[in-house]
Amino acid sequence: MARVINFSAGPAVLPLDVLQQAQSELVDWQGLGMSVMEISHRSKAFIKAAEQAEADLRELMQIPDDYSVLFLQGGATTHFALIPMNLSSPDQASDYLVTGSWSKKASKEAGVIRKVSVVADGASSNYMDVPERKNWKLNSEAAYFHYCANETISGLEMHAPPDVGAVPLVADMSSTILSRPVDVRKFGMIYAGAQKNIGPSGIVILIVRKDLLERSPAGLPPILKYSAHAAEGSMLNTPPTFAWYFAGLVFAWLKRQGGLARMAELNQRKAERLYRAIDESGYYKNPVAKPYRSWMNVPFTLPGGGLDAEFLKQAERAGLTNLKGHRSVGGMRASIYNAMTEDGVIALVDFMADFAKRHG
Ligand SMILES: *Cc1c(COP(=O)(O)O)cnc(C)c1O
Repeated sequence: MARVINFSAGPAVLPLDVLQQAQSELVDWQGLGMSVMEISHRSKAFIKAAEQAEADLRELMQIPDDYSVLFLQGGATTHFALIPMNLSSPDQASDYLVTGSWSKKASKEAGVIRKVSVVADGASSNYMDVPERKNWKLNSEAAYFHYCANETISGLEMHAPPDVGAVPLVADMSSTILSRPVDVRKFGMIYAGAQKNIGPSGIVILIVRKDLLERSPAGLPPILKYSAHAAEGSMLNTPPTFAWYFAGLVFAWLKRQGGLARMAELNQRKAERLYRAIDESGYYKNPVAKPYRSWMNVPFTLPGGGLDAEFLKQAERAGLTNLKGHRSVGGMRASIYNAMTEDGVIALVDFMADFAKRHG
């Protein structure tokens, strides 16, 4: 077996143990003589797996009982549009903090259907820093405050949730969910597409305080309505069963690893090792303001940029793959989600040091 060391930003590397488990039960799941993909989502076996996945996620994140957990579709992007439709009424404005591509996209989608107020925009720092809190133009009447906890493309992460008073906090955690413990109580809603740190693409996890579910305005078709999905246990229609099953395997794997406190330790160590290698190299650079450097996505540049293709080619030869930065940013980006091992990061750091020595 030849697994590469995969730094893809998403869909991203998954834990090898979990892939092997899914492989071993693919054609005959639980002695049923069928795969999990070939049975009804309303079958006893699937319902049990789906409920176990939710229970494990609740345990991992310590989700209080007054929050619903939904397993929906459409990617995080669909929820950029569904959040304003469900959490605000047509005459209500919402606050958006823009810190990079994803939060900007979220604000634009919302702006099509509702009044959006951008409380601050990091454009002047080229999104390498978060605008100072004291300059945010907060609206205490806002339906909610939306931000992106980790900007996957630029590698800018807000390591603690912002304090926005009584306005419900809504966080896009697509690329940082489960990387560390969070205090769910601080949020009105957390949502995340699965393909960064959970499982295959095709499923989105929403953690929503129950009183906010009641806001869904009348006149919204049930299929677009969070409260209708909650009432049906996310089975208003056929859910993405394989992705849900697979997410459940990842949650069980996280529990076996020691839970989110343990993942946080590991993720912080991995990130610090990589940033230290960049900062001390005198060769590579990471442009993000230090307090906001992401634990999950680490962009870096080579001097001049002329050697980018050569770096990628040699990295590929060393078994280090998907290091090319996002097309809007250039340079390199190493995504080091939960499933990236510490040995994988060490291999990258060693390769980078060697490359710098030969080309610096
Ligand atoms: C990947 C990503 C998205 C978009 O996810 P889709 O599944 O493609 O809709 C949104 N927000 C963040 C932070 C992401 O990393």
